[in-house]
Amino acid sequence: MKCLPTKQASWPVRKIFGVRKWFPPGEIQIALLQHCTKGKFGIKKAYQGFIPQFPKVSWKGITLGASTLRRRQFITWLAIQKRLATVDRLEKWGISVNKDCILCSSEKEETMEHLWLECSYAKHMCSALLNWIGVVHLTTNWDTKVQWLEKQVKHNRARADVLKFLFSPTIYHVWNERNNRRFRGTQQESTRKLKEVAIQLHTRGNHQQKRKHVLEDLNCYPT
Ligand SMILES: [Zn+2]
Repeated sequence: MKCLPTKQASWPVRKIFGVRKWFPPGEIQIALLQHCTKGKFGIKKAYQGFIPQFPKVSWKGITLGASTLRRRQFITWLAIQKRLATVDRLEKWGISVNKDCILCSSEKEETMEHLWLECSYAKHMCSALLNWIGVVHLTTNWDTKVQWLEKQVKHNRARADVLKFLFSPTIYHVWNERNNRRFRGTQQESTRKLKEVAIQLHTRGNHQQKRKHVLEDLNCYPT
C-alpha cells in the first residue's frame, strides 16, 4: 500500500515524501533512518539532508549584499561568470548585431573584457567611484578585479562595505546603459549614472550604522 501525505501535511513533509522517487525501491527507509537520533526522526534534519549540496563560490560575498536589489544581484552574478549576452556571445549563438561597443567611440568589439576593462564609459564610472571613496585599484584583468574585490569585502570595515555596495549598481548601470543605447535608442552620460549611484548609496546605505561616518565624508557627487 502506498503511503501518501495528506493535503494538510506541512510543506517539508510533502517535500520529504517527494524525494522517494530519487531512491531505488526500499532504500528510502535506510536514508530516512540516517536522520534519526535516539530513535526520534528529525524532519528538519532530513529536509536539510536531502537538499543538494554545492560548493560555495568565492564571490558570494560580492553579489549577495542584503541591500542589493535582486535584479542587480542577478546582473552582477552573470557578469562575474562572464555570461552577460555581449555581442561576441550573441554571435556564437547565431545572432548577428552591430559588433562595435555602443558605449564609447573606440569602434572596438563589444566583449566582456572591453566592456568592463577598456571601455571609457565603464572605466569612468569605476574610477570615479573608487576615487570618491578613496580606494586605488588598477587592473586589466576581470578575474583579478573580482579576486581583489573578494578580498576587500572580507574585511568588516565600513569602507569595504561601501565598496561592496557600489559594485552591483556600477555593473547594473553600465549594462543597463548598453541595453538602452542598443535596443531603445536612449542614452545617459556616465556623470548622471554616478549621481544616481551616489544617491542610492546615501538613501539605502544609511540604514547601516557602520557606514554612517563614511557616508558623512562622501558629501559631494563622484565626478
Ligand atoms: Zn566601449
